[in-house]
Amino acid sequence: MSYCVNCGVELDPTASACPLCQTPVVNPRQPVDTELPPPFPSRREEVQPVNKIEVALLLSSMLGSVAVVCGVLNLFFLHSGRPWSLYVIGAAVMLWIWLVPPLLFRGMPLWVRLGLDACAVGVYVYLISIDLQGLGWYLGLALPIILTGGAIMVALGLILSRGRSILTSITLIIGAIGLFVMSIEFYVDHWLHQAYLPGWSLVVAAICAALIIPLVIVRRRPALRDEVRRRFHM
Ligand SMILES: [Zn+2]
Repeated sequence: MSYCVNCGVELDPTASACPLCQTPVVNPRQPVDTELPPPFPSRREEVQPVNKIEVALLLSSMLGSVAVVCGVLNLFFLHSGRPWSLYVIGAAVMLWIWLVPPLLFRGMPLWVRLGLDACAVGVYVYLISIDLQGLGWYLGLALPIILTGGAIMVALGLILSRGRSILTSITLIIGAIGLFVMSIEFYVDHWLHQAYLPGWSLVVAAICAALIIPLVIVRRRPALRDEVRRRFHM
């Protein structure tokens, strides 16, 4: 067994030069074995990267065929007076919007993606409301909640895409959750009682505030911040 005189790496008997530092191998007691096959392949092959367009086409055709099959079954065979296939078609549309555009447009900004995702949820809930004949609750309750959630996500995406630290990101996300929960109760109260009577959402908001306050204190104190980063490997 030989070792490289320069970098100390263990050498294969077939090596005439160190594979790391290219220092020639001279060992009078063990000449280079030219008969043995080298321990590594002479050809270097790379794994082909997955073609994004092919994956997008595959996903589109899978989701599209599921939607079409359910729609046809609903129209011609299993028509029970209800457009039940809208649930499947809506889910397929929503999954398509969630998965395919981000796959094709890698450079898509985060806020655009989040906005699209919220729109997809809005479309899906709209399709459900058609089956349940609930356009009233869709426009009066579901749509405002989805639009508010979407607006909060777009704002969060815009702020976070400017490269924030993990601590800042966690603080902002917890704040956004608290805000969103409060807006849900606001819309539900207005829908049911035509008045805003904050109750359960205040509990969630208080928990969010209790989580945010220590995070803000940690962010403001450089010594504390460095300690937290060390402990949690940020
Ligand atoms: Zn070497």
